[in-house]
Amino acid sequence: RAPKQRLPEWLKTAIPVGKNYTEIKNNLRELKLHTVCEEAKCPNISDCWGGGEHKTATATIMLMGDECTRGCRFCSVKTSKAPKPLDIHEPENTAEAISRWGLDYVVLTSVDRDDLADGGSAHFAETIMKLKHKAPKILVECLTGDFQGDMECVARVATSGLDVYAHNIETVEALSAYVRDPRAKFRQSISVLAHAKKAKPGLLTKTSMMLGCGETEAEVIHAMDELRKADVDVLTLGQYMRPTKKHMRVHEYVKPEVFERYQKLAEERGFKYVASGPLVRSSYKAGEFYISNILK
Ligand code: SF4
Ligand code: SF4
Repeated sequence: RAPKQRLPEWLKTAIPVGKNYTEIKNNLRELKLHTVCEEAKCPNISDCWGGGEHKTATATIMLMGDECTRGCRFCSVKTSKAPKPLDIHEPENTAEAISRWGLDYVVLTSVDRDDLADGGSAHFAETIMKLKHKAPKILVECLTGDFQGDMECVARVATSGLDVYAHNIETVEALSAYVRDPRAKFRQSISVLAHAKKAKPGLLTKTSMMLGCGETEAEVIHAMDELRKADVDVLTLGQYMRPTKKHMRVHEYVKPEVFERYQKLAEERGFKYVASGPLVRSSYKAGEFYISNILK
């Protein structure tokens, strides 16, 4: 029997508070949006929704339902071979709700929809176009799947008017087949990121990795180098947390000083922005980072 995994001090966080946070939470009830922030009980919710130094509120919205056609070992989203059909009104309703919300930065993400011919790329693109039309000032990041390597789908989203194209490699190449659904491949993910930039030169591209899955330092550095070859601009590194006992175990709680070392190693490699820390998530204070690093 494996010993119980204790949570180290640095991963225990405060309960969300703050005026902005409460306001947004109340608004959400009326807007009927599904946020990953709430559903995944993200520990950063008060920081993100409350805005930081620049009062930049960020939230992550889930599109295309809550059933995924894939099953990654770290993820708590439900798996289904035949998820419910898309809601054709979702792009309009989501755009309308977000534009009324008063957010500065929104991350649109979704489950993987391998059951759809275009992977849901047109649905994504339509949501972004409608949102930018209604609220041109909102910065939009989309966090998509790999569209099974269909580069037309990648280009459709990349050219839809968004500000940041994110796709997560999740882990190092050596662990990819174990950690992610076998249909998600490290090389394919690198190509998706490279293609997004090719489709829209100047577009910011971004990826994330979870640490503590058993990766070595050399493997993390290798991933950083491959990402830079694909001209990826932004990298976030955070601790993998096991959602339930059915999910893959945490191999190790990576110490804050190790995250700091990775931060330096990544910066030396020329990423425009790096966030590396135990509680960092792909969308962690994304708006805050954008305002203070990209628009400066
Ligand atoms: Fe979760 Fe995304 Fe993997 Fe689906 S593809 S199981 S939503 S991580
Ligand atoms: Fe939401 Fe992402 Fe921030 Fe968590 S890190 S609160 S999921 S925006």
